[in-house]
Amino acid sequence: MPNDTSSASTALGAPTRILILGGGFAGVIATRRLEKLLGRRRDVEIVLVSRDNFFLITPLLFEACSGTLELRHCSQPIRPFLQHATFIEATVGRIDLDRRIVSLTVPEGTAQDLSFDHLVLALGAKTNERLIPGSSQAFTFKTIADAIVLRNHLIERFERADVETDPERKRELLTVVVIGAGLVGTELTGELTAFVDEIVRWYQTVRRDEVRFYLIEAGPRILGEVDPALAAHAAKVLTKRGVDIRTHTPVKRIDEDGITMADEVIKASTIVLSAGIEPNPLVAALPVEKDRHGRIIVEASMRSAARPSLWGLGDCAAIPDPSGKPYPSLAQHAVREAKAVAHNIARALRGEQPRPFVYSQLGVMAALGHFQAIGRVMGIPLTGFPAWWTWRTYYLFQMPRWSRRIRIMIDWTVALFFHPDIVKVDLAVESRQLERACAAGADAPMRLVSGEATRPRLTERAEPAPMAAAPASRPAP
Ligand SMILES: Cc1cc2nc3c(=O)[nH]c(=O)nc-3n(C[C@H](O)[C@H](O)[C@H](O)COP(=O)(O)OP(=O)(O)OC[C@H]3O[C@@H](n4cnc5c(N)ncnc54)[C@H](O)[C@@H]3O)c2cc1C
Repeated sequence: MPNDTSSASTALGAPTRILILGGGFAGVIATRRLEKLLGRRRDVEIVLVSRDNFFLITPLLFEACSGTLELRHCSQPIRPFLQHATFIEATVGRIDLDRRIVSLTVPEGTAQDLSFDHLVLALGAKTNERLIPGSSQAFTFKTIADAIVLRNHLIERFERADVETDPERKRELLTVVVIGAGLVGTELTGELTAFVDEIVRWYQTVRRDEVRFYLIEAGPRILGEVDPALAAHAAKVLTKRGVDIRTHTPVKRIDEDGITMADEVIKASTIVLSAGIEPNPLVAALPVEKDRHGRIIVEASMRSAARPSLWGLGDCAAIPDPSGKPYPSLAQHAVREAKAVAHNIARALRGEQPRPFVYSQLGVMAALGHFQAIGRVMGIPLTGFPAWWTWRTYYLFQMPRWSRRIRIMIDWTVALFFHPDIVKVDLAVESRQLERACAAGADAPMRLVSGEATRPRLTERAEPAPMAAAPASRPAP
């Protein structure tokens, strides 16, 4: 691993270092393209830093949550993907643009500084928890950890509801609220309703019509990103599955046991927040111009006007289209931006002018579970099974390697013939059980107790298995 604290002014003979921060769609694809363009040059060093050693194919996260896909199969390990670039699994702590140094913390907790000549900012975004008071009480849906936690939580609600004798309490346990009916909120609602349709058979005392879903949207309709007709189709599909869709309904507050709107309170044991994103917090600390969403403003070439060594793309940057409007925060854009930024950096190294990034969206698709989807592809509107088939085929071929594609195809084929399982593996609960066993003098393997494998969110939200009739509550955030 490169390990230096030298200034980026590239000491005599030292290679020019291109440092890419963030191993999502934008960062990984940019690194790959940079490798192709510059990988064989001895005078150029390409380094990718990300806190996970895999990158997540977010459109597949819904199926990973429901169990249609094996959890790991919605991600791709980064290392086999790269040939010449150096990959460092580390968390970026601080970016000093003046000294051209980035401070990293590697998994063992050691801090290291890394200099750069060109910095590519691809740190993505996080769920915006500042819009609604109490947002930290809700689940988010952005990472694999989020998918695991939500899946475990939902299955746990069913386990509790099955033995719950108080009808009020049972109702709350079986109520799911999704706040925000954009692509993520709507797709998640579709997938979860399909999941519940399948798993309810394993619970003797839970009827499907007892499980209530609410999809709450502050705007005038669901799926603001797609045509009204397609959104209306999606709304019809979800309503048929019993989803209570509320539009023009801003949520005022989220509490541990429900949500408050202008004139109604809904008691719910599962609340998911997907009402918008905000750029990675590291971006907020940078002394560069930002737009009203907090994204760094770059030129159409993705280069910062004020800092020519800084490039920004993906969800953390505002890149103007030819009309001056920023491109949407979508994976399909991040992928194209990534390829274009690599070419522009190569041009800059040759002393040429970078070119503006121009891209017209191919279409938008949203899967709804149960072989249903909606979408518009190259101007053609699609609904139902053809949309679902197109969606699947497209994302299958977006997976970069055949090894992953084949695994996904196997998962999808198995899911056609078998019901999803309801196994919930909760590392935090296992850890606590081991801790208790150790405290009681049992001979438990201590190394498992560290909980190191779990991310903060995972540990924060997990709960010990409750007594049958105990009042269930979401753990304190
Ligand atoms: C559930 C879901 C479904 C979606 N479905 C679609 C879809 O169907 N079609 C579509 O076009 N878009 C979709 N999107 C949007 C799409 O995922 C994003 O637009 C895309 O991921 C943006 O890519 P990015 O590389 O900018 O950011 P990200 O993919 O978020 O990558 C950021 C990377 O930075 C890393 N990172 C963050 N902070 C640090 C740090 N401090 N140190 C080190 N590394 C760090 C992260 O680990 C991550 O690897 C979906 C999003 C979600 C959440």
